[in-house]
Formats: sequence, structure tokens, C-alpha cells
Amino acid sequence: MIEQAAAHFDGAFISAASLLAFEVMRSQPMRGGKAIIVGGSVGGLFIGVLLQREGWSIDIYERSPSGLEGKGAGLVPQQEVADILREIDRGDVMRAGVSAHERIFLDRNGDISGRLKAPQSQMSWDLLFKAWRDEVLSQSYHLGSGVASITTAQSHAEVHLSDGSIHRAELVIGADGIGSVVRAMVAPGSKPRYAGYAAFRGLSPERELSKQSADVVSDRFTFYDLPDTQFLGYTVAGADGSTKPGARRYNWVWYRQLTPDQFAQALEANDGERRAFSAARGTLSTSTQEELRAAARANLPTVLSEIVTREKCPFLQGIFDFEAPVMYRGRVVLLGDAAFVVRPHTAMGVAKAAADAMELRDALVEEASIDAALYRYSAKRMIAGSLIVRYGQRLGERLQMHAPDRAPELYGEE
Ligand SMILES: Cc1cc2nc3c(=O)[nH]c(=O)nc-3n(C[C@H](O)[C@H](O)[C@H](O)COP(=O)(O)OP(=O)(O)OC[C@H]3O[C@@H](n4cnc5c(N)ncnc54)[C@H](O)[C@@H]3O)c2cc1C
Repeated sequence: MIEQAAAHFDGAFISAASLLAFEVMRSQPMRGGKAIIVGGSVGGLFIGVLLQREGWSIDIYERSPSGLEGKGAGLVPQQEVADILREIDRGDVMRAGVSAHERIFLDRNGDISGRLKAPQSQMSWDLLFKAWRDEVLSQSYHLGSGVASITTAQSHAEVHLSDGSIHRAELVIGADGIGSVVRAMVAPGSKPRYAGYAAFRGLSPERELSKQSADVVSDRFTFYDLPDTQFLGYTVAGADGSTKPGARRYNWVWYRQLTPDQFAQALEANDGERRAFSAARGTLSTSTQEELRAAARANLPTVLSEIVTREKCPFLQGIFDFEAPVMYRGRVVLLGDAAFVVRPHTAMGVAKAAADAMELRDALVEEASIDAALYRYSAKRMIAGSLIVRYGQRLGERLQMHAPDRAPELYGEE
């Protein structure tokens, strides 16, 4: 009886002691280590800069040889974007947005059939990118550095670049977007699913809009809806950040249903390169551009078709859904679009990457070990990512209602 009581007391004592030890460890925040970030877009920069400010040594490997400057369009910034900009004292980027004072809905003639007083600010992706790129030293940001594969061990991971070099760090962060190579290692076999429609997009200098179009759309968030198609547009700052009327740009998005075959064909660029998810500005083939302009003339009100037909460099973004079944393996972790791809209707892509970065930083600073931090980060951000994916699917349902069958083998369906 006494022995039993002693054993019981002993056990209680041991678990209290280990609890105490755990709490002591938790209260001793981790010192910064070395992190490699794959992907030098906004997600990679968010986490790179936040970790750098916590004393981590970082290296960002970006596949693009020329950099991402000037390659973005527009976005509607959410609270998370304001929060993360405040972390680096760059609230001014939020203020460089262009405000739309109302939402307008057009009819087939281009007349305003509905109005909603919903003032909203729109931001240029380029300005956001630049604010974060400026925070990283050139020697830590490696252009033309495509990552080919990743390996992980218990206390480190290795990044294998296409040029054959191998780089080791205590933590590797995959911020390499929708076609993530890092994800192939963390969650093998998981792939984004094509949703049956795509967004043709443009970013036209405001002064190139016709007077008729500008009079209707300027400083307004404009929508034109049909059952299986949607056009929307808004004004963003000029490439130099100017918000002066005439110096700004008009960002437009036209969602259209495309079968998987039509989508694959639309992605076939003039350079013959086969892309899987999108065709950046300057790569859309002549025939796809001609088809787009003809479709605009046939289907959109003149005030909008003129915007599309005058656009010199339209680009194309397929609409995909993706939810990572796991967010980390060993010392390799996913962030941003590499982990969850959300539809653009949510306006949450950049906000989600910002929230991922702030949560990963917090976990790494507050937890006693990298392993504990990755567990905590993944537990929180898996739920958030899934909810945003579902939200985007609900918003996109109307556009998908008549969506043609998808091709499983091409678009990652099981
Ligand atoms: C040039 C560009 C312009 C964009 N413009 C807009 C916009 O105007 N509005 C908007 O809402 N969203 C835009 N996006 C998308 C937006 O950034 C993402 O949806 C979201 O913010 C999540 O960002 P991310 O960093 O996770 O992914 P992404 O922004 O997609 O970035 C992934 C990065 O990883 C790089 N990469 C991919 N594979 C490798 C590899 N193997 N090795 C090294 N690097 C690799 C890519 O080149 C890319 O720079 C843009 C993305 C890019 C890349």
C-alpha cells in the first residue's frame, strides 16, 4: 500500500518535473539559425525578412533569372497585409493604394445597372514586392537559382540546385508557389486541381483606355456578370507608384470557362514552352491573344471589350484548388501557395502568405525547438488554409456551374 502510494507520488512528481522543464524550455526562446527559402516572391520575402529580423541567417533561392520586378498586377489588400507591412514600418505601401469609391455592375450595353457604396483600396503587387525585396541584401537573394530537389534529415535539410550545388540549413521553407518542387518532397503525389475556368488578365496604362471606358470604370470597382463568366476591374498605382490620375494602371480580370484542352492550348506560348498553370505577360501566343480579343468583342459591353482589345500584353492564370495533406516533413516546411492554393475571388492569396509567415516566425521565436515550432505552425495554418480554399470554391461555384469536364491525368485529379 505504502509502495503503491510512493509509486503514485513518484509518478506525479516526475510528470510535474517534466512539465516544469518543458515550460522552462518554452520560456527560453530559440536563437536564430540558418534558413533557406525556396522562392523569392512575396511569400518567400515575407518569411525571409521576418526571420532575418529575429537574427536568422537567410538565403533566398529564386528561379527567375531576371527577377520579379514589374511582373505583378493588382490585389485587394486584406488586414494581414497591413499587419505584416507594419512589422517592417512600411505602412506607407498601404497608403499608396488607389481607392474605388463604389462598386458598379454593368449591363450588356455597358450602362450601370447597379451600384454598391463599398469604398475599397487596391494595391499594386509590384509596390508590395519592392517594399520587401528592399529589405534583403543582394548577397542573400539569389536569382537564376532554380531548386531541383530537397532532402531532409533529423536536424537539417539540403537544397539541390539545378546547377548541381548543394546547400544545407537547419530549416528549408518552400515558398515556391503553385508548382512547388518542395511540396513534391513534403507531400509526394499531391497536385493542384484545375477548376474548369481561367482568368485572362491585363494591366493597362490608364492613359491608353478610351475616354468612353475611362469615364465608366475609373476609380470604381467594376463588375460585369453572366452565368458562366465574370469581368472585373479596378485602378491601381502606376509602375512608379504614382496614384495621380493618368499615371495609374487599370487592372482587369476576365474569368472564362475553358475545357482542360482549351486551357492547355491557351498556355502554349510563342516560345513553345509548355506551362502548367499560367502564362505570364509577354508569353501568351498570338493565336490566344486573337481569340481573346474576338471573344471580348462578341461577349462584353463595348466599354469593357475596348479595355481588353487595347491591352498589349494580356496574360493568363488557370484557376486551381490545392490543399496540402501535410505542411512539413523533417526540417522542410511549406508556406503560401506551395501549401494552399486559393481562388483569386477570395482576394486572400497574399494575405494568406502573410499570415503564414507571421505564424511561422512567431512559432520559431516562441517555441523551444524547430520541431515544436513546425508542429504548432502546421496545426494552425492547415485549418486556416482549408477554410480559405473552401471559401474560394463557394465563391467560384457560379462560374463552375457549366464547367466542362476536367481531364484527371492533366490536372492532378486522382
Ligand atoms: C511575378 C508574380 C506576379 C504576381 N502578381 C500578382 C498580382 O498582381 N496579384 C495577386 O493577387 N497575386 C499575384 N501573384 C501571386 C501571389 O504572389 C501569390 O498568389 C501569393 O501571394 C502567394 O505567394 P507565394 O510567394 O507563395 O507564391 P508565388 O507568388 O507564386 O511565388 C512563387 C515563387 O517561387 C519561384 N519558384 C518556383 N519554383 C521554384 C524553384 N524550383 N526554385 C526556385 N524558385 C522557384 C517562382 O519563380 C516564384 O517567384 C504574383 C506572383 C508572381 C510570382
